[in-house]
Parts: sequence; C-alpha cells; structure tokens
Amino acid sequence: MTTTQEAATTAVSADMVRMVDAGTLISIVVPVFNEEESVLAFIKVVGPILEGTGANWELVFVDDGSSDRTVDILLAQRTTVPQIKIVKLSRNFGKEAALAAGLDFASGDMVAVMDVDMQDPPELLAQMIARWREGYDIAYGRRVQRDSDGFLKRLTAGRFYKLFNSISDAPIPDNVGDFRLMDRSVVDALNKLPERVRFMKGLFAWVGFKSIAVDYERPARLAGQTKFRYWRLWNFALDGITSFSTVPLRIWTYVGLLIALVSFVYGSYIIMRTVIFGVDVPGYASLLVLILFLGGVQLMGLGIIGEYLGRVFYEVKQRPLYLAEKLYGFERD
Ligand code: UDP
Ligand code: MG
Repeated sequence: MTTTQEAATTAVSADMVRMVDAGTLISIVVPVFNEEESVLAFIKVVGPILEGTGANWELVFVDDGSSDRTVDILLAQRTTVPQIKIVKLSRNFGKEAALAAGLDFASGDMVAVMDVDMQDPPELLAQMIARWREGYDIAYGRRVQRDSDGFLKRLTAGRFYKLFNSISDAPIPDNVGDFRLMDRSVVDALNKLPERVRFMKGLFAWVGFKSIAVDYERPARLAGQTKFRYWRLWNFALDGITSFSTVPLRIWTYVGLLIALVSFVYGSYIIMRTVIFGVDVPGYASLLVLILFLGGVQLMGLGIIGEYLGRVFYEVKQRPLYLAEKLYGFERD
C-alpha cells in the first residue's frame, strides 16, 4: 500500500511519521568506476553521518569494472567498517546498469543513490531522511546552480531536458540528477521494470510516488575526472529520448505529409505552366536540390527508425543488465 492510500484509509493520517530507529535499515548505493582517489574520503564522511541517524546502515558499492585500486581499497576498509558491501561487476557496464545492480542488492527500508565524488553532498542525507520520515517516498536532490559544470554542459543539459519534457509523458524535474533517497516501495517498483536500456532519471520519474525536492549547490568533483564526455552524453540523451517517447518516430508521418502537400502544389504549378507556356527543358538545379533534399530526409527518417530498432533488438535479446562477478558482504555470497 502506498503512503497516500494509507493516509486516506487510516485515522492517524495527520502524523504519517515513519520511525528511524535501530530496526531501520538505510542503504546507500554508490556506483564506482576507477575512483581510487575518492572512495576513502567518501566512506570517512558518509559513515559518521549514517551512524548519527541511530539506524542500521549499509554502503552498497557497485564496482563498475574498475581497473585501478578501487576494489582493494574498499576491501581493506571492509575489515574495519563491516557495513561496506561490494558488488563487483564483471566489466564496465555503465552507471545506469551499476545503479540497477545496486538497487537490486540494497535491502534497506530506504535506499539512497549517491555519486562517490562528493558532488552529491552527504550532508543532504539527513534532510532526505527527514523527508522520508514525514511520509515522502522520494526525496530527490535538486541543484540550484551548476557552476561546477562547464558552460557547454549546462547549455546542452538544459536543452536536452526541455526537449525531453516536451515529448515524454513522464517529465523529469529540472536540474535533478540521480542523487535521491527512496522508500522500499519505490525501489521494489524500479526493480520490477524489465527494460534493458535503463535511463534512470526517466525511470525515477515514470514510477511516480509522493516526491519532494531537496535543494543544494553542486560542488566540483573531489578528485579525478568526470567519466561522461560529450559523445557519451549524446548517446545517453538518445537513450533517454528513445526510451520515453515515440515522437521522433511519428514525426516522419507529418514530414512526409508536408512534403507531399508541397510537391502537389508545386506539381500543379509546373503542369499549369507547361500547359500554358509549353515545354521548358532547363531545371537541372531544382531537380538536383530536390533529389538531395528528399534523399537526406529519407535517410534521417531511416536513421531514427534504426535508433529504435537497435534498442528493440537489445530488449528482445533479454540479456541480464549486468553480471556480478563477485559479492562481498551479502548473505547470498
Ligand atoms: N560511474 C560508474 N560507471 C561509469 C561511469 C561513472 O559507475 O561507467 C560512477 C562514477 O564512479 C561516479 C558516478 O558514476 O561515482 C558519477 O560519475 P561522474 O562523477 O564521472 O559523472 P558526472 O558527475 O560528471 O556527471
Ligand atoms: Mg561527478
């Protein structure tokens, strides 16, 4: 039963307060890919914050095929911080798949998703947990400024979200990343979604639930380099749009109709002119322009069909989202 339903059916709807005590488990899902410079600082900061909540907690690190010492450092830390759990993926599957793995393995009553580079300020966890106690199922971080991102990244990101929201039926709130805290019921819903191409921001929005924003200023990366270069972001954007909208596919019907209409008008004009003024041979330039233009339009349409077909291909293969090579700290290992 969701919180809203509960609130409607029980008499104590005024204080829909959830308890955070020793019987509560808080999971933090952290995807890591070559983050040897950041993991230690992350654990040192987040551990005490979680300890301060009085609840039980676990840090579920998903190693997304790191080739550096990330896993070694985590394993070393595990000897003193038994709350650290590690899902080691067999190769780099990408952040989205790593998140899916983390959500699968996290068993908390609430689950937060965080980057390891401190760009998602750990201090916000307390606020998010407070929201959860008030009965919100999702508390998502919202950046009030993105100065830490370059100008081009902010511009392209802004454009992308505008476009996405105008054609998708599950709009993503502005300036919201993956950083959020979710109730168990939300995580269960996410884990049930079967798709292989996982555009997490879109899926988070699609599942719905009672949500609230927690504002913060996004700091610069603690150490190391961003793993998202422009080509990767472009492909990410394509995944997002093709997973949540068929507008790019359907638009071609209208482009075709428009071109047909214009052709009809132009054709009528040519016929009239020929009838009235006789045959007129020149026309090489207009012919060439038309052929090239229509060829381009058709290839574009085909390309877009290809984008979707390619993703359908991935979905029907039904390969697992990720392969866990080794687990540390889980009962099932
Ligand atoms: N990450 C990952 N797999 C990847 C790329 C990134 O697990 O293939 C993790 C990375 O270790 C970090 C988080 O995703 O914890 C966010 O990555 P990054 O900081 O590079 O992205 P940005 O903040 O620049 O968007
Ligand atoms: Mg980052």
